[in-house]
Amino acid sequence: MKILLRACVLLSFISLLSGCNPARDSRNFYRDMLVLRSVSDRECVSRKDIGRIHLGCHFSDENYAILKGDFDYLRRMELRGPAAEKLQQMLGLQTLTGESLLDWFEDKIQFLLDETFGYLDASVRGVNLSSSFLNVYRNPFSIFEIPGHGLVEINSQKVGVAQLGAPFFKIFVGQEKSDTIKQIATLFHEARHSQGRGASFGFQHIPCPEGHRDVGKFYCDPCNNGAYTIQKLFFDSALAGCDECSDMEKIELSFNSYISKESVLSDTIECDATLEIP
Ligand SMILES: [Zn+2]
Repeated sequence: MKILLRACVLLSFISLLSGCNPARDSRNFYRDMLVLRSVSDRECVSRKDIGRIHLGCHFSDENYAILKGDFDYLRRMELRGPAAEKLQQMLGLQTLTGESLLDWFEDKIQFLLDETFGYLDASVRGVNLSSSFLNVYRNPFSIFEIPGHGLVEINSQKVGVAQLGAPFFKIFVGQEKSDTIKQIATLFHEARHSQGRGASFGFQHIPCPEGHRDVGKFYCDPCNNGAYTIQKLFFDSALAGCDECSDMEKIELSFNSYISKESVLSDTIECDATLEIP
């Protein structure tokens, strides 16, 4: 069975890399066979959960503590100012509190993995794996093997799987609060990729245009309500609410808001944030 699973993963990776879509012609053949499996051969069985979020069991104790700290911080966060109102409206929340934001997140992402799950570019803070996978096959029959949790069928955009890279967990002395806020902003960014339908399925990024700092890289959003906008509004409202942030931390948050905004190409194009595969 293990050999079969490995073969299936290989098959799905090859088709992902080549950009072809075998599922369109052979859905029945591939049904139940598309398994994205951890490349780690290390067996582990212990389960680590934070609230409704399940963590891959390879998570180190140190990274687990950082992530738990993020969610604890989020729970008691105060978000203020016009950005907070806009964020509330964009996320469709009746109230904007740390708890309501956590609820919103837990409805989009159910599993968090670290870099031990598989290859991740060393500069990447996070990636929404389930959205990319569903986007290619556009049919709810992809399966992930989550270390410590077994096979999980991605049968809805709500079964979100995100992978966090090593840069996500970096915390610098004197920037603990802004680094924590950056981590939470990344989590919300990835959660936004679990939404959308049609052309905005997964709020996929597009290549940045000529003249942009990141020209040609998939770091830009065509919509004014995509992942980078959510990230920017979160930075702005966290900055307005962070009375205890140092001047250095406030500068750091302002800078991150600025570079998030740079990735948003349109002020006016609002994309459909409802779910295609609910
Ligand atoms: Zn993204």
